[in-house]
Amino acid sequence: MEKLLDNIIQTNRKYVEEGEVASYIPELKKGNKNDLGVYVTTLNGEEFRAGDYETRFTIQSISKVISLIIAIMDNGEDYVFSKVGVEHTADAFNSITNLETKNLHRPSNPMINAGAIAIVSLIKGREPDEVFERILNFTRKITGNDNININREAYISEKATGDRNRSLAYFMKSTGVITNDVEKVLDVYFKQCSMEVTCKDISRIGAFLANDGVIPLTGEKVIPRETARIVKAIMTTCGMYDASGEFAVNIGMPAKSGVGGGIMAVAPEKMGIGVVGPSLDKKGNSIAGIKVLADLSKELELSIF
Ligand code: GLN
Repeated sequence: MEKLLDNIIQTNRKYVEEGEVASYIPELKKGNKNDLGVYVTTLNGEEFRAGDYETRFTIQSISKVISLIIAIMDNGEDYVFSKVGVEHTADAFNSITNLETKNLHRPSNPMINAGAIAIVSLIKGREPDEVFERILNFTRKITGNDNININREAYISEKATGDRNRSLAYFMKSTGVITNDVEKVLDVYFKQCSMEVTCKDISRIGAFLANDGVIPLTGEKVIPRETARIVKAIMTTCGMYDASGEFAVNIGMPAKSGVGGGIMAVAPEKMGIGVVGPSLDKKGNSIAGIKVLADLSKELELSIF
């Protein structure tokens, strides 16, 4: 298996040249464009890795999966999906027009920024610190990594420049999707995006979902199977934004990307896969990371279709 992963990384390294590291969050410019790594966690506890798997990166939008799970646990899915839709969009992850023109001013789905910010506003907690603490603790639990923390520089950088997200959030306040303090909600959102991880961590989140909400290493059932099913369905249709259709055809796994360069993929009943490659395509997905997942999916027949 490691030989296979090694080969796949070698073959696909060239694609890092075709993308760019994210720059709209200034701190992300520090990411190394040439990095490419992969980590696999199987449901029987085996782990395999290759390439720059030790690279640390901010989780960014992969965190949207975690907050969605917590919001469903807190409120039930009916309430959550009365606030945020579950429809794929053909627009960019931070689109403003999508929010104003579709779904009666509700965000289209929880994987785009507007939807994720609305989801964060639904998580229970007395103060923003408590809300974020719940997200952090949940992340630590399902990764089995108590050392996960915020990358302060990334958090401060995004908070200082996150005006697009601010405009989405204030618009949602005006339409009643968000009912609490916008700045407090955004603070939690910026923090959750700034959690620093490796592809080992995200492969473990994938394995937890592949195992229907039971942590493979400990056997602990953390969420109902039904919640895991819903989240995987939304990842399949919306997790790669406006590239989700192409990803379904070429790779065929529930997945979620982030502009830090990570992609978390789920092979149900088999394994979780974490990829890191900070060089991104125009849609904000790891350009070589997608190629790695395509090869892996073909070699191991991982497509769910
Ligand atoms: N923190 C980023 C943002 O809100 C997350 C976006 C992403 O990973 N696609 O813009």
